[in-house]
Amino acid sequence: MKQLETKILESGKVIGDDILKVDAFLNHQIDPVLMAGVGKAFATAFKDMGVTRILTLESSGIAPAVMTGLEMGVPVVFGRKSKSLTLTDGLYTAEVRSYTKQTVNEIAVSKNFIEKDDVILIIDDFLANGQAALGLKSLVDQAGAKIAGIGIVIEKTFQPGRALLVDQGMKMVSLARIEKFEEGRVIFAPADI
Ligand code: 5GP
Repeated sequence: MKQLETKILESGKVIGDDILKVDAFLNHQIDPVLMAGVGKAFATAFKDMGVTRILTLESSGIAPAVMTGLEMGVPVVFGRKSKSLTLTDGLYTAEVRSYTKQTVNEIAVSKNFIEKDDVILIIDDFLANGQAALGLKSLVDQAGAKIAGIGIVIEKTFQPGRALLVDQGMKMVSLARIEKFEEGRVIFAPADI
């Protein structure tokens, strides 16, 4: 997605060898016009697949997921990372190792919001080692629902996430694919769209 690649080049910051900071438009401040484009792109890529719900992870997946849900006319559910007094039982849970924080979080979603006849589209902001996406897949599997595929805003192709997910038979669409960081610059691989 050209508009996204341009934004990454304009305002993404490479941190160390393998992290891209995109606080200016996705992870802290959000660019609504760009997110609307992201929503349209995912809705087009996964149209005619019978998607009934979108599942993402708080907090950075919510903006792209909501814009996709708006385009597709389906509800958006987010897996929660923190314990909540109002969300205590009736949960599907999975353990996810956080790539950026290097901690293991339990993620949880209420059993009310994934049903066995659902066809779920999983959306996340980044794909690195695939742990967040696999955790989300586990929540869907526990509910006995189907997965239409996985939509990723920014994939780092030099990390093993895609291979893990594709090996499990999942359709994956990434809007920007980063092949490498070279002296603080982002080098793209061809995107899926
Ligand atoms: P994975 O679970 O695929 O290893 O990592 C994906 C998760 O880690 C995403 O949900 C995202 O929050 C975070 N993440 C991984 N790589 C990056 C990165 O380069 N930049 C940012 N901002 N987040 C990342």
